[in-house]
This record gives sequence, C-alpha cells and structure tokens, in this order.
Amino acid sequence: MLQSCVQQGDAMELASSDEALLSDAPVGGRLTVDLDAIRANYLSLSRQVTPATVAAVLKADAYGLGADIIAPELYEEGCRRFFVADIREAARLQDALPGDVEIYMLNGLPSGSEHAAASRGVRPVLNTLDQISAWQGICSRLGLRLGAAIQVDTGMSRLGLSAKDVDKLAEDHHWAKSFDPVLLLSHLACADEPDNDVNAEQLASFLVYAALLPCKELSIANSGGVFLGSAFHADCVRSGVALYGVNPTGRLRNPMRPAIQIEGRVIQLRDIAAGTGVGYGLCFTARASGTLATIGVGYADGWPRSLSGKGAVFFRGQRLPIVGRVSMDSIMVDVTELPRGAIKPDDLVELVGPHQTLEEVARDAGTIAYELLTAIGSRYARTYLKRAPGR
Ligand SMILES: *Cc1c(COP(=O)(O)O)cnc(C)c1O
Repeated sequence: MLQSCVQQGDAMELASSDEALLSDAPVGGRLTVDLDAIRANYLSLSRQVTPATVAAVLKADAYGLGADIIAPELYEEGCRRFFVADIREAARLQDALPGDVEIYMLNGLPSGSEHAAASRGVRPVLNTLDQISAWQGICSRLGLRLGAAIQVDTGMSRLGLSAKDVDKLAEDHHWAKSFDPVLLLSHLACADEPDNDVNAEQLASFLVYAALLPCKELSIANSGGVFLGSAFHADCVRSGVALYGVNPTGRLRNPMRPAIQIEGRVIQLRDIAAGTGVGYGLCFTARASGTLATIGVGYADGWPRSLSGKGAVFFRGQRLPIVGRVSMDSIMVDVTELPRGAIKPDDLVELVGPHQTLEEVARDAGTIAYELLTAIGSRYARTYLKRAPGR
C-alpha cells in the first residue's frame, strides 16, 4: 500500500516534469508573427483610405496566424469592424474582443443559424433574397432592428444578389424597416490586376446598385482594391492579406511591412556519395558527392509538395535548394555549398524571412501567399513579437 502511494507520487512528479520537458522540447519549425508590423500595416492602410475606414478580415483564424491574438491588437489601433466567414469564427472573435465592435459573417446566413447570430449580435452578410427574408423574420420576432450587410454580385459570380434580385429589393424598401442594412458590399474578382478593366466595370455596377438600395455605407475593396485609387475606397475597405504583410498590389514593390517569419530546424545531416537517391520515389539522384540537411518541416506544416525539387531555404544568407520530394514532416536540402561544419543539427534555417518572401515561396510552389498562410497548421512553435508598451 505504502509502496503504491510512493509510486503514484513519483509518477505524478514525473508527469509534471514531463510536461515542462515537452514544452521545452525543440520543434521542427518556428513561426514568428510580428504584431507591431500588423498594427503598422493597419495604420498605413487607414491613412491611405481616410476618410474611409479599414475593416479587418480575420477569417480562417486570421489567415492561420491567430485571430484571438491579432484582433485585440487591431482593436487597440481603432479597428471596430471585423469580417469572418461563419458563426463559429464570429463567436471566437467575440470572446477575444470588447463588445463595441461589429462582426460580419461573409458566408451569409445558413438556414437554422438565424437565432444564434441574432442572439449573439453577429451580423450576417446577406447574400440571397431568402437570407434577407430570414433576417427580417428573426428581427421581427425578436422585436430588434439588428444590423446586417447586403452583398451584391458585380461580376465575380461567387456570392451576393443578382441584378434581378436587386431590382426586386429596389421596388419597395419595406424590408429595411425590420433590420438595419448598414453596409452594401461587393467583391472584386481582379483587384490584384490594376490594369484590368473589369475593376472599373465592377465599381460602376456597384454604384448603380448602391443608388437603388437604402444601405448606409458602401464597401467594395479588399486589400488589392485599396491600391486601385480612392474611388474604390467607398466608405470602408475590407483588408485581410495586406494586414499580414503580403503584397496586395500585383506590382513588384510591396507597400506593406512583412509580418511573419518561418524557420525550420535541422534534424539530421548526412554525407552522400554521387549516385545516391534522395526522398520518396528517389526522384533526385545526387550527381556528385555532397551533404544534405533534413529539415523538420513538411507538407503537414504547409510546405507544399509542389516545392519538391524546386524551392529553397536560406542559412546565413546562403541559398540551400530543396532536393527530392517534400515529405509530411520534413524536407531535404543540399548544404554542400556551405563551409564544412558551418551548419549543425538543431540549427534553424530560414523558410520565410529577410532572404525569401512568402510571395517568392508561393511563386515557386505555383500557388498564392494566401494559400500558404492558411496552410501553416498548428505544429510550429509560435512566437508573437510585440514592443514593450510605453516604448
Ligand atoms: C477574404 C475577403 C476579403 C479580404 O481579402 P484580402 O485580399 O485578403 O484583403 C474581403 N472581402 C471578402 C468578401 C472576402 O471574402
């Protein structure tokens, strides 16, 4: 009996020290999010669009970077309007923010979610006439004239009312008695192509619809739209990717401040002889002898398989090409060009940072920075950088 108690005690002590050991254990990769850069990006967009305001788009957990951590930072800079995709994301954001904010759900009002949205004070972006009727219904039942946005489709064919729907709504504005149509929205299909005439055409139809509907404020621009000129700013721009430091302009110079760094850990080094095959499928064969480093980041960490034999990482400014296929938890890079002994197990290499932007990685991978961001996953050790207050 006594012995078993002692054993249990020992086991508990082991368990708690085990937790500490686990949290100190090195991970395969590290994600650093610069909150000051995100705040600076919010302020620079705000300055650019004044007197219009900037609403923050925090869907998909703030593009994978942590909505509950980023939202309060933006609130401190004055942001009071937020966009997410659905009611679950909206509820999580409400938990992270003071009550004096507007949270909109871009994906509309799925039937059955009216009560949850209304009782939480979350505002739907109404994308169909049925959703408008449903919101009217719940507002009348509750006796509350709640806010909502209405989205019109001006050419992207994704979400929002058609021209015919708008005509119907315009015939008679009685629906605006039961709820408050705060915002009229539309979304640009080609905002990152400043020379595409479609942008001006979408803006023109948007303004035609706006004249027909009794919404208080207008919003058509995403991050890219901010850089199409002040006509696109309307009353409010909805910015996501630019806040996170990605170049939204479709031009070479990035006006935003980069906000993330990704590093991967060297988990093994290996000297190989000429003719050695590397990775799944042995798709790469070394032409000469050399040295490989295996890095503990793979496609489960959002480093896509399309970077197999294509992308690179950096170490002290030296480009180290990826060789062979990207695995789930690791990649192999050629470190032969580094001086012997310069790189060691446990060293960190740069995947995204001063030498390689997220946009460059996206180009190598044949995708866009948005997809890489939202694929980052939960395995990285995360660090949020923030200047000490009052400095
Ligand atoms: C995602 C989204 C945005 C934000 O787009 P960014 O290009 O990241 O700024 C704005 N509006 C709508 C409707 C969206 O779906």
